[in-house]
Amino acid sequence: MLEQVAKLIGDEIGADKVLTSYSDMYVYEFDATPMFRGKPDLVVRAFSIDDVVAVMKIANERKIPVVPRGHASSLTGAAVPSQGGIVLDLSAMRKIEVHPEDGYVKAEAGATVAEVDLACNEFGFFLPPDPASADTATIGASIAENAGGMRGARYGSFRNWVLGMTVVLPGGKVFKLGAPVFKQRMGYDLMQLFIGSEGTLGVITDATLKIIPQREGLVRFFSYFRNIREVVDVIQDLKRSKIDPLVVEFMDEETLKCVNEAYKTNFRTDGIALMIDIDGYQEQLDAVAGRAEEIIRKHNPLELDKARGGEPKAIELYTARKASYPAISRLNKIVLIEDLTVPLSKVPDAFSEAKSIGRKYGISIPTFGHIGDGNFHPTITFRELTKENLELAKKIFEEVSDVAIKYGGVVSGEHGIGLQKKASFVRMLESMGSSELIEYMKRVKELFDPNGIMNPGKVF
Ligand SMILES: Cc1cc2nc3c(=O)[nH]c(=O)nc-3n(C[C@H](O)[C@H](O)[C@H](O)COP(=O)(O)OP(=O)(O)OC[C@H]3O[C@@H](n4cnc5c(N)ncnc54)[C@H](O)[C@@H]3O)c2cc1C
Repeated sequence: MLEQVAKLIGDEIGADKVLTSYSDMYVYEFDATPMFRGKPDLVVRAFSIDDVVAVMKIANERKIPVVPRGHASSLTGAAVPSQGGIVLDLSAMRKIEVHPEDGYVKAEAGATVAEVDLACNEFGFFLPPDPASADTATIGASIAENAGGMRGARYGSFRNWVLGMTVVLPGGKVFKLGAPVFKQRMGYDLMQLFIGSEGTLGVITDATLKIIPQREGLVRFFSYFRNIREVVDVIQDLKRSKIDPLVVEFMDEETLKCVNEAYKTNFRTDGIALMIDIDGYQEQLDAVAGRAEEIIRKHNPLELDKARGGEPKAIELYTARKASYPAISRLNKIVLIEDLTVPLSKVPDAFSEAKSIGRKYGISIPTFGHIGDGNFHPTITFRELTKENLELAKKIFEEVSDVAIKYGGVVSGEHGIGLQKKASFVRMLESMGSSELIEYMKRVKELFDPNGIMNPGKVF
């Protein structure tokens, strides 16, 4: 325990913001990735940028690791203090200012994505990126992870929506990056380096994000198909027909079984569930939704259901999709979630190959995700935690990651590298003939963080 450091920080920002007892620090040992743990030496709860600056000065002088943390819903061990040090909890920094007149929102790092979205809704706007964990995921972390989500099929991930941010570097230097405008040239765009940096360069204390006007309504389709190729055919057919769905999500049979078992629901489990949202303005919504329905029916679904946004059925279907990972992890003691992204046309082969690896080893790999943007989550599961199962799970995890590499995709689309994907990240760069990029990345890190204190051990 860093007693002296705890006292120094306490004297500077207030002792009540510093946690040092094992019982208080217990929940800071892990994130939503059950396979990784680490012990913080102390935890600091920041309430303002001044608190962050004080911590970054003191930690840098003494070369103590700092792990920024939102709500620890990371799925790669990224928020785990694997080398001890200070966990810097930003969840109390939650101010939100909406500027509808200029089309942006400014939020402190600890506000959740859902809170920010709701605040914008009051003005008839919304924040497009929407991780399934939006009620938990904080803005600072979602930028640090370049999170994607349910509306990714149309709006992509956070990177597309960040206009500016404030960062605090090791040593306490504060930089304002970007500006609240939609077009900007800033020389080399260093702000982009912080998006997806997983807390390894500095601490994001607030961000300015582009928002757009809400549509007036949506129709949600929930259908089942016999196999993944049929699902991809539907998506491609919709796009060919000039229909650009807001949400395109799927759950395979094994995921549906988990949702039913964990939450006592009654979804059919003999096909792949495809959820598609069509949104629009009232006068055109029925016409576009009608065309989308025709196209889905043409592909002969096992079943097709629909509901208007806000109706109980629409909410139930969305909730079920969002419950995929919680259901799987509730039932299994070993859970290693992949985050593969391949070009849409390669999804059928990549999906089938990932599933066949499960059959080869006799294990279940429930798979679900954001299929509209080619991003899916085969999840390596074992009901029992034994040393042998864990070793095998890790081996299978690497084998499944290689499927994305084989099909010209990436091993992480949105969850990041963290602790979990370091080996597959290196293999991916090798396969691209770009292994040397790691050295360039290390040099970028040295520039911002010469003492290597920021979230050490993550990414590379
Ligand atoms: C059920 C479930 C569903 C999920 N669905 C999605 C999904 O659809 N799409 C998706 O992309 N992800 C998803 N995730 C993963 C996760 O929710 C996101 O990565 C989320 O953005 C993390 O937010 P957090 O506040 O919990 O971050 P944390 O877990 O606390 O931190 C994540 C990373 O960000 C760094 N960090 C945190 N705050 C800051 C800061 N202010 N400055 C610099 N670095 C910081 C941390 O050091 C860590 O490396 C899901 C997770 C769960 C459990």
